[in-house]
Amino acid sequence: MLYIVGVGVAEGYLTERAIRLIKEAEVVYGSKRAVELAKKHIRGEIRVMTSFGENIYREIENEAKDKRVVVLSTGDPMVSGLGRFLKGEIEPGISSVQLALARLKLDLTDVVIVDSHARESYEEIKKALKIRRKVLVLADRNFDLKKIDEIDEKVKIIVLENLGLDNEKISDEITSDRTIVYLELI
Ligand code: SAH
Repeated sequence: MLYIVGVGVAEGYLTERAIRLIKEAEVVYGSKRAVELAKKHIRGEIRVMTSFGENIYREIENEAKDKRVVVLSTGDPMVSGLGRFLKGEIEPGISSVQLALARLKLDLTDVVIVDSHARESYEEIKKALKIRRKVLVLADRNFDLKKIDEIDEKVKIIVLENLGLDNEKISDEITSDRTIVYLELI
């Protein structure tokens, strides 16, 4: 059996269901950060993933044919996570998107979410702003806020960084790879 388990965005956001699946696993895969967040519950063999891609995903699926395997995904596996790449059961986790919505007091159904983590997305963002006015961008240090300033209309910008962590910060500049940018057409 293969389970793709969300471990939450930070310490304290692991659900009881996730904990149970982690405890029952014979083998647990995950990035260094994901393993760290789940560590105290892991009883099986730990395999820290340093590379990601089709080959390793197929290997994991094969191994799961006769073992109970868990792949950890930080936050929620279905928010720019590992869920879409692996054939298994998905166990949701608390995502950085949920924390951002909580801090901004915004409803998920009022925003468009754009993934700009390790990819360019400025055109997509412009279109999303036109359709919905409010956009949450999954961003990293490479995200260029100047490109947003170049948009003709006025856009309000709020940068939310390291949500759920000790160094959580809300400001107007990007200093971290763990960043969500809120944009609103005003
Ligand atoms: N599955 C994860 C997202 C992985 S993609 C989740 O559900 O949260 C990585 C992106 O998520 C980062 O580029 C950033 O945009 C966002 N992110 C992850 N952790 C974050 C945090 N603590 N604070 C703000 N954004 C975060």
